[in-house]
Amino acid sequence: MKSKICRMTNQRKVILEELRKSTEHLSADELYILVREKLPNISISTVYRNLEALSECGLVGKLELGKTQKRFDANVEPHFHIRCVNCGRLDDVPFAVISKIEKAIQEVEVAVSKLTGYEMKGYQLEFLGICPKCKEKMKNQENSTNGRKDKNGDKKDQK
Ligand SMILES: [Zn+2]
Ligand SMILES: [Zn+2]
Repeated sequence: MKSKICRMTNQRKVILEELRKSTEHLSADELYILVREKLPNISISTVYRNLEALSECGLVGKLELGKTQKRFDANVEPHFHIRCVNCGRLDDVPFAVISKIEKAIQEVEVAVSKLTGYEMKGYQLEFLGICPKCKEKMKNQENSTNGRKDKNGDKKDQK
């Protein structure tokens, strides 16, 4: 493993601070908007370059699962993610279940290796779901369309 020593410039410090404030695994674009409030002259490409540098020195994690936009993670400890299939929001799987998942995977890996003849080199794991915000939104939408399809036939004038 290569580990580079990171020169901590003011720009990098601000980027790191903003990333750590949020638990939402921001994309470079989203971070740029936040960082710009502190450093109005910074450009998107500078933010991007600094993020790449910070990830090379292991100070931020880079998430590139599937075809989704690249996101950055202030949490560099090994952990798992859950992604909302509706809005793309990414959250950390609570720390309390990580050891359970790892234990289960170790067992599965042995079995898969035996059955396939592959030598295991790792795995990618991402949970998929619908986040609380989207769930709430969907519930509200359902409620508002129910008015039209009401089986009782009473007219509801609500929007
Ligand atoms: Zn969502
Ligand atoms: Zn994370």
